[in-house]
Amino acid sequence: MHCARYISRFGFASCVRPRSIASLCALPETHQLLQKTCHDFADSELFPVAAKIDREHYYPVEEIAKLGDMGLMSIVLSERYGGSGLDYLAYAIAMEEISRGCASIGVTMSIHNSLYLGVLEKYGTEEQKQRFIPGYTDGRKIGCFALSEPGNGSDAGAASTSAILKGDRWVLNGTKSWISGGYEAGMGIVFATTDKKLKHKGITAFLVPMDSSGLGRGKKEEKLGIRGTSTCQLIFEDCEIPKENVLGKEGYGFKIAMQSLDAGRIGVAGQALGIAQASLECAIDYAAKRKAFGKPINKLQAIQMKLADMSVKLESARLLTWRAAWLKDNNLTFTKEAAQAKLAASETATFCAHQCMQILGGMGYVSDMPAERYYREARITEIYEGTSEIQRLVIAGQILKEFGI
Ligand SMILES: Cc1cc2nc3c(=O)[nH]c(=O)nc-3n(C[C@H](O)[C@H](O)[C@H](O)COP(=O)(O)OP(=O)(O)OC[C@H]3O[C@@H](n4cnc5c(N)ncnc54)[C@H](O)[C@@H]3O)c2cc1C
Repeated sequence: MHCARYISRFGFASCVRPRSIASLCALPETHQLLQKTCHDFADSELFPVAAKIDREHYYPVEEIAKLGDMGLMSIVLSERYGGSGLDYLAYAIAMEEISRGCASIGVTMSIHNSLYLGVLEKYGTEEQKQRFIPGYTDGRKIGCFALSEPGNGSDAGAASTSAILKGDRWVLNGTKSWISGGYEAGMGIVFATTDKKLKHKGITAFLVPMDSSGLGRGKKEEKLGIRGTSTCQLIFEDCEIPKENVLGKEGYGFKIAMQSLDAGRIGVAGQALGIAQASLECAIDYAAKRKAFGKPINKLQAIQMKLADMSVKLESARLLTWRAAWLKDNNLTFTKEAAQAKLAASETATFCAHQCMQILGGMGYVSDMPAERYYREARITEIYEGTSEIQRLVIAGQILKEFGI
């Protein structure tokens, strides 16, 4: 199955069944086809294994390879570098559908596309792209993005991992924290300071092969959810990399990180929408089957109110997400809109998963049903790639700027 590649290369010219719940805007036909293909794939291949991945805490090699075969592991990468060459709207839609089936797999798809390939394509030299993209387009190899540290997450400009140039090698020392895919990734984009006195202006981005000597990994973190990807520390002890592995210019790392996270937030918003949509569908399905006081609980207005609230938040967040993607695709400023989308979608995921659990009653609290997993998985979308508090700061900063304040 090469859905994304097929769409990008040959266009689309057959009928698409209208979707019952999730497609209320008139998407281009190409995007509708992608949406339906990913939707069906998530139902048949991802949802059936999502609980097992969560329970057994393993990286789903086969499923990620299938995503790769569909062109989803390089969905926004240009075709000239072996990618599917689709836009961010397509990416947001695919992220939602894939995460609706398995949010853990959504994490890997999101980091690899927007925080490895996307960053490398935008800031890398031609020579770096020729060296570090081949092999990374089909899901068999993935990249990671290492910005956070034990001492700083939200305050990313305070990085203390150091990089010192010695002859023709950079020598890295320090520890990066919480790195998604830290055990699976073959390459990493690592942020380190070349001059701590300069604060965020001293940060540089480096392309680091993950098998470099002097690069170790901490333990795999035991997480509340998204257990289909490892999260760990990367420990640099005199780790040497070639001088030419600087990504962008020296001292531009903070700018690269912030701009990359703007794009990454569209992916996280898509992931959050997938969790919210799955929660709504689970609640609707259960409420039709479960009887109380002699009738299905979906006849109770208290339950209907919850379903209504879930759908309003979900569809509002989806529109914000698609708008942010559209702005990016049209080369317009999208920092505020990406933060709004991520904030709205992640809080919607938490809200919908909470309501879903409530509608399922006791069955919401046990692992026989997916509601408790959605509840656990939703929370991370409010934390990584900038917490909800940080999104509010970004949005407020942009609004004040718009008003010239
Ligand atoms: C599962 C997982 C995967 C992750 N994957 C990656 C990854 O692949 N790469 C990577 O680089 N990082 C990754 N992270 C790190 C993640 O981005 C950070 O955890 C996040 O940015 C928050 O940083 P922190 O944990 O240091 O919290 P802190 O920055 O210490 O924040 C603690 C609390 O204070 C609040 N706060 C902080 N500053 C302000 C402020 N100025 N105003 C108001 N409130 C504030 C925060 O919102 C939060 O509520 C991951 C984290 C997790 C848990």
